[in-house]
Amino acid sequence: MSSVNNKVVLKHALKGLPKAHDFEVKAEPLPEPVDGMFRIRHLYIALDPWQRSAMAGRHATDSKPYGTGDTPPAEIIGIVEDSHHESFANGDYVRAMGGWQEFSLSNGDGAKLIKPDLAHTDAVPISTHLGVLGMPGLTAWASIVRLADVQPGQTVLVSAAHGPVGSMVGQIAIKKGATAVGIAGSDEKCQMVTEKLGFSACVNYKASGYPESLRKALPNGADIYHDNVGGQMLIDAINVMNEYGTVVLCGLISQYNDPALAVDLPLALPIMKRLTMKGLVVYDHADAEDEFVSTVAPWINDGSIRYLEDIAVGLDSAGAQFAKLMRGDNIGKTLIKLNP
Ligand code: NDP
Repeated sequence: MSSVNNKVVLKHALKGLPKAHDFEVKAEPLPEPVDGMFRIRHLYIALDPWQRSAMAGRHATDSKPYGTGDTPPAEIIGIVEDSHHESFANGDYVRAMGGWQEFSLSNGDGAKLIKPDLAHTDAVPISTHLGVLGMPGLTAWASIVRLADVQPGQTVLVSAAHGPVGSMVGQIAIKKGATAVGIAGSDEKCQMVTEKLGFSACVNYKASGYPESLRKALPNGADIYHDNVGGQMLIDAINVMNEYGTVVLCGLISQYNDPALAVDLPLALPIMKRLTMKGLVVYDHADAEDEFVSTVAPWINDGSIRYLEDIAVGLDSAGAQFAKLMRGDNIGKTLIKLNP
């Protein structure tokens, strides 16, 4: 058994777009649990856009910027070992906040057991609990089922359509009898969104002819827009919304690296279209998690909902993999798989 814990630390506070060389791996002694605690051996680390805001001190979890020597935060999937906790046994699979490292300690707060049932099969690998069956999937469920209350026959538009949130927004909408149209940043991503995920159309916003191409892809307009990006993308999407439509404001990835990139929404647009705009924070919807997992896990298990993952192996790859996510070059849920 290892006697060290390798962890990623920041070499310095991040500025702008993260780069691989902003991070390094350091070893420390293996953390030892005391009574009421257990150690988690990490199998997968989730890399998420919110971690950039957290490292800048602009997130609900962190109001102070991260600096030299700090380890970035992350949800992880791992195996319980050396348990001194009555509700978590050695060998249990758990999801918890563990950070960019090989091991973490937990007292059980916020840790969730992953049971060996429909939500953990060959077709539903454990990694999906950080993506389409985890926090991003729940975000999509909260958006489409709860906030937008999608109805059969409606058209749902979503940006970052290949990512874990966007891909689930579209696929849950399709399950509910709606039509899904995606926006993504390359032809390759769009091809996956239509061919693998079943969206009716996907528009490459980086290709020439955008946003006219968006209007062409939506001959009857959009009834619901789930916004993962903000800025100009939000403005262009509102321009193709139908009157009395719903916009779910979920993410602002266009400005996480640099808030100065913010583009203001002209408020005349939603007024003239009589839109309802709803802000979404996934933590408000924790009570929907059991319903969400028990509904969606069978769909993943039977292959009627599909998922994309962008996995790099080993802690050394974490910095480069995060930089890739924040450049927008990932396809699907961004993960680090740790060496067994
Ligand atoms: P994704 O993997 O979808 O996010 C990365 C993708 O965003 C990129 O691949 C890129 O794809 C797209 N993107 C669009 N514009 C930019 C830009 N300017 N710079 C970088 N990337 C860009 O992540 P998730 O599915 O995990 O999350 C989607 C959004 O939802 C994020 O904004 C996230 O913060 C937010 N979120 C909000 C929650 C809440 O509670 N409100 C909870 C969970 C997520 P492309 O360019 O091809 O479109």
